[in-house]
Amino acid sequence: MRAPVIAVDGPAGSGKSSVCRAVAARLGLRYLDTGAMYRAMTWAMLDAGIDVDDADAVARHAESVHIISGTDPAEPTIHVAETDVSGPIRGDDVTGAVSAVSAVPSVRERLVAIQRAEVAAAHAAGDGIVVEGRDITTVVLPDADVRVFITADPAVRAARRAAQDEGLGKDGVDVQQTQTDLLARDAKDSSREASPLVLAPDAVVVDTTGLTLDESIDRVCALVDALPE
Ligand code: C5P
Repeated sequence: MRAPVIAVDGPAGSGKSSVCRAVAARLGLRYLDTGAMYRAMTWAMLDAGIDVDDADAVARHAESVHIISGTDPAEPTIHVAETDVSGPIRGDDVTGAVSAVSAVPSVRERLVAIQRAEVAAAHAAGDGIVVEGRDITTVVLPDADVRVFITADPAVRAARRAAQDEGLGKDGVDVQQTQTDLLARDAKDSSREASPLVLAPDAVVVDTTGLTLDESIDRVCALVDALPE
């Protein structure tokens, strides 16, 4: 298959971003990180001084937020209007607020429409795309050619996320606290009413707990290789 659509979901710290980016680069596909879009929307809320627990205020402000994602896996970009927010969206303030913003149904409708438009644009150009998030296999692209749920044990996810945070230069990174925060975010993302993170019945589970990054990438690429011509 020349231009496959690959949908990937999974909890925080499962390794899905690293795996998805590398799969897209290896197979010459576009890459869309929908978590970055929800983070960008959250950054815009905080920047405007919106109370993220006020769902009506979030819904109102979301209508004026313009989010643009670059889909080159070698250099994915994320902007709110003219502002490059790729650094700020990884901050603790955004991470702590993103689950509240992403639980607002009209925020999701708006971002899902952009996500589907990115897939349509890739398709129109004859390109395939890897799209990752929490509701991609279930809601955004239920008919994707490959549907994967990437997961890992919580302790391993926390250790990986803490290492990433240290790599980003964050101070005072604590693995135990990171695990507590990850599990709290998973609980919110999995229990919300609008498009919760769930394992789609026919998605392929890739558990990266005992796998290296390269092995995880190989697993997903093998699923793409197995598609009919
Ligand atoms: O993938 P990442 O951890 O960057 O996602 C940040 C947050 O964005 C998630 O915790 C979740 O609240 C939200 N999200 C979502 N739906 C998606 C992708 C991310 O609700 N498709």
